[in-house]
Amino acid sequence: MSPPSLIDTHPNLVGTAPVALSYELFPPRSPAAAESLWTTIGELEATDPDYVSVTYGASGSNRNTAVELINRLVQETTLRPLAHLTCVGNSPQELAEIIGELLDVGVRGILALRGDQPKDGVAPPEGSLRYAQDLIELIRRVEQRRSALLCAGKVAVGVAAYPTRHPESPSEAHDVEVLLAKQRSGADFAITQVFFHTEQYADLLTRARRAGVTIPIIPGVMPLTSLRRLARLSELTGVEADPALIGRLAAAETDAERTRIGVSATVDLANAALDAGAPGLHLYTFNEHTAALDVLDKLALPRPRRGNRHSSHQRSAGRRQLAS
Ligand code: FAD
Repeated sequence: MSPPSLIDTHPNLVGTAPVALSYELFPPRSPAAAESLWTTIGELEATDPDYVSVTYGASGSNRNTAVELINRLVQETTLRPLAHLTCVGNSPQELAEIIGELLDVGVRGILALRGDQPKDGVAPPEGSLRYAQDLIELIRRVEQRRSALLCAGKVAVGVAAYPTRHPESPSEAHDVEVLLAKQRSGADFAITQVFFHTEQYADLLTRARRAGVTIPIIPGVMPLTSLRRLARLSELTGVEADPALIGRLAAAETDAERTRIGVSATVDLANAALDAGAPGLHLYTFNEHTAALDVLDKLALPRPRRGNRHSSHQRSAGRRQLAS
């Protein structure tokens, strides 16, 4: 029998980790949207998140704008990008090329997703990957081939997790089996789909831990301030919004009241997830910062102080001072 390690005999040596903070952005669809996105990026950067995720259209529909946004984040900000990547409709060769391109621009975190099936019901081309699990294995293979280039940090692979049943899945138990399979294939962490009831994250965590899932499961939380967005989100994800919240938002007489109701509901969801042991918080921003920052202000997350990092806003303010 080997002697117990120092870590085993003194478990408190490891201490508790700070709560991770991240935001989701999507690649802009027009020059005006890009301008507003960069204002948002500046505001979010000032909160010093651990990473920002950048979505990716199913079948690579926005590949160029996604890679361009990621490249600018790496070049012009202090933010670390987590690149979403979907595999539906793409061959392993095409995907290996995109993974290589992401690694070349400095990406070290990829969220491996299947993507939604095309609505027209057309079968994916022969040989294309079927599940997120296949993509994880492909990322690991590309990583292995480049291991000498990755000596200063390997690739962190994330996956999707579902607090409520995935629309194509037979049951929540099946969803957890799939999450376990993704962990076995090499996933390092999971981010959840949106959810609207405070107990849903804790329930997922309990089911997943019981099944043997050990990776961090980070709750994805959306500021619930817009009725239009809630409706669109339900349509896209199949997750039904809370009718009571919809009623309260619909009854609000001013935008300010709607924002107050929505932010408060989001803070309740986030606090319930943190109380259940969430290791971080991922905010779906829809490329807008105001509601996300309102939520953050009310949460007072225990975050590390990083005195030596300066946001690009602070840096450009410094440059302006030097120039004047
Ligand atoms: P998978 O894990 O592959 O699961 C897909 C379906 O197949 C599920 O029903 C699952 O139960 C089933 N399944 C999986 N493996 C097996 C197996 N071995 N045998 C049998 N059944 C199996 N979509 C985008 O297009 N772009 C994005 O940027 C994007 N970002 C997202 C970010 C997050 C945090 C989340 C939660 C979702 C995101 N989505 C995105 C949506 C996602 O692509 C859809 O939910 C998609 O329908 C499923 O993706 P997945 O990675 O969970 O797929």
